[in-house]
Amino acid sequence: MSETATAETFGFQAEVKQLLHLMVHSLYSNREIFLRELISNASDANDKRRFEAIERPELATDQLEIGIEIDRDARTITVSDTGIGMSRDEIIEQLGTIAHSGTGRFLERMTGDQKKDSQLIGQFGVGFYSAFIVADEVTVESRRADLPAAEAVEWQSRGEGEFSIRPIEREQVGTRVTLKLKDDGDEFLDEHRVRGLIRKYSDHVGFPILLTVAGSAAKAEQVNRAQALWTRPRNEVSDDEYIEFYRHVTHDFADPLTWSHNKVEGKREYTNLLYVPSVAPYDLWNREAPRGVKLYVQRVFITDNATEFLPLYLRFVRGVVDCNDLSLNVSREMLQQDPAIASMRSALTKRVLDLLRKLADDSDKYKTFWSQFGSTLKEGLAEDTQNREKIAELLRYRTTRSDQEDRSLDQYIADAKPEQDKIYYLVAESAAAAASSPHLEAFRDRDIEVVLMSDRIDEWALQYLHEYKGKELRDISRGELELPASEQAPEVAIEPDKDQKDLLKRIKRALRDEVDEVRASKRLRESAACIVLADQDIGYQMKEVLKAAGQALPDVKPHLEVNLDHPLLRRLGAESDKDRFDKLASLVLDQAVLAEGRQLADPARFVKRLNELLFESGSTSGETNER
Ligand code: ADP
Ligand code: MG
Repeated sequence: MSETATAETFGFQAEVKQLLHLMVHSLYSNREIFLRELISNASDANDKRRFEAIERPELATDQLEIGIEIDRDARTITVSDTGIGMSRDEIIEQLGTIAHSGTGRFLERMTGDQKKDSQLIGQFGVGFYSAFIVADEVTVESRRADLPAAEAVEWQSRGEGEFSIRPIEREQVGTRVTLKLKDDGDEFLDEHRVRGLIRKYSDHVGFPILLTVAGSAAKAEQVNRAQALWTRPRNEVSDDEYIEFYRHVTHDFADPLTWSHNKVEGKREYTNLLYVPSVAPYDLWNREAPRGVKLYVQRVFITDNATEFLPLYLRFVRGVVDCNDLSLNVSREMLQQDPAIASMRSALTKRVLDLLRKLADDSDKYKTFWSQFGSTLKEGLAEDTQNREKIAELLRYRTTRSDQEDRSLDQYIADAKPEQDKIYYLVAESAAAAASSPHLEAFRDRDIEVVLMSDRIDEWALQYLHEYKGKELRDISRGELELPASEQAPEVAIEPDKDQKDLLKRIKRALRDEVDEVRASKRLRESAACIVLADQDIGYQMKEVLKAAGQALPDVKPHLEVNLDHPLLRRLGAESDKDRFDKLASLVLDQAVLAEGRQLADPARFVKRLNELLFESGSTSGETNER
């Protein structure tokens, strides 16, 4: 059989073509990164072979290494590994489509603006296809570790929309990627240059990287230190090395915000290197999405997504945990049941919370962290009772005293009046709605700070935080208003007179289907009315969440508080016509809802009544007669 007779041609998936085009055109100034990507794949493949060999010892080898070969005459550079290899089906799937979420995410971020995109792509782990930035033609020969030599496969492409596949014989297990360099790719034939690149990008790789030059008498030279980065002492690893390793682990395009690297000795011996990213993955909200840390047991790679080492609310943390005394055959069930893992998990949780506390000293970085992961961290108030106070310390909110900077509860307490024993907060639809809520009036009057919450998760999360450092957290839109003792100015406790009591009753009668009680308010200064919930009632945010989840809601009517000094209430008091009174009363209620930035149940009714009243009062002006 001739070679050409058995070769088959396939088209790349459309996204691959898009990526190839972008990469070749916009990554040119940073083209050296192809080497990092190919070495990273070789290292992953070696890891996988070692892992599969745990269950199938016949796949084991003591020669897991990575070879780099330069051939000046042929103008090629080759990256080879002795790893798991790929079968024919795997190579078609893995080098012809984009399954990897990182790449999909990357393409989503593309703007179409060449300059911006080239910055983005330059920071991103672009993977195998980056070979085409420097190569006219790429050839991949691969033999899967569990397949015979006769079932090896060759993949070849010029990166122009197609690739071809043909069967080959291959003695060596693993993969060999050969790049036929473009005319201006001479630098990658220079041994010094290539050695420098390996040291710069791939020194952390835990397998020996051996450099050979075709035709040279010198034997292969080991270029890297071949020691897994996390096994090295902290003070010997530079920030750049940590960051490079982060890229290798996460495929993230941005630098991490911070990291924590520790070796722990005790009941379980383990090393952890945990990173806090600076950009949230697009699926962070999804509590089911793959997450977790890379797990190694005595340097042997076990899994990419070990979820047992950190709680769900810290799912944004990435990195490596290497346990010394777990079985290599460890299964998910074993991890879940092992009490020593539970204690590692609680130690690692504390470590991450401490790391975040330290990060908070850098306000810019912390701001980034908070904007990306604040909502996720808040889940911890419910999930992690043990660390609730530590989590609460990390919370940041807008308050009536912050201009742009969010504030911590500690700052709140530090600035509170000495006799103030509560932390007051308000939950609203948006920051703007919170800031202009009528509920704030009495507090503004007395210069008492109120925490303004508008994150969808706030109301739910706050159910689990009743107090912080001895101070009760108090939702100011619920129940009776309780101001600090010294602030109970006598004018506040207005006792309604007989006429006013009468008015409250009439309002209550007019709105009986919508409100439970109508009372004189201590909360208000400028506004006519506000809505108040009872302590046990479900709040508005939670209602939305439950509604969206299709759950039935108890039909609870709120209380209406009115400002008896307000002209609108005076006007109501003087209104004798029952129909007009009812309309006015319902406007008072609707106003209160609108002032909190919420939506009316029946906006059309509001508009109709408002118009009726306007036209009525304006009927002497003449214009309204045209109606
Ligand atoms: P990523 O490494 O992020 O998954 P790449 O584009 O670098 O993305 O590689 C795509 C896939 O091709 C890998 O996930 C792997 O399955 C396969 N692959 C690439 N290089 C090798 C190799 N040297 N050995 C085995 N499989 C490989
Ligand atoms: Mg890769």
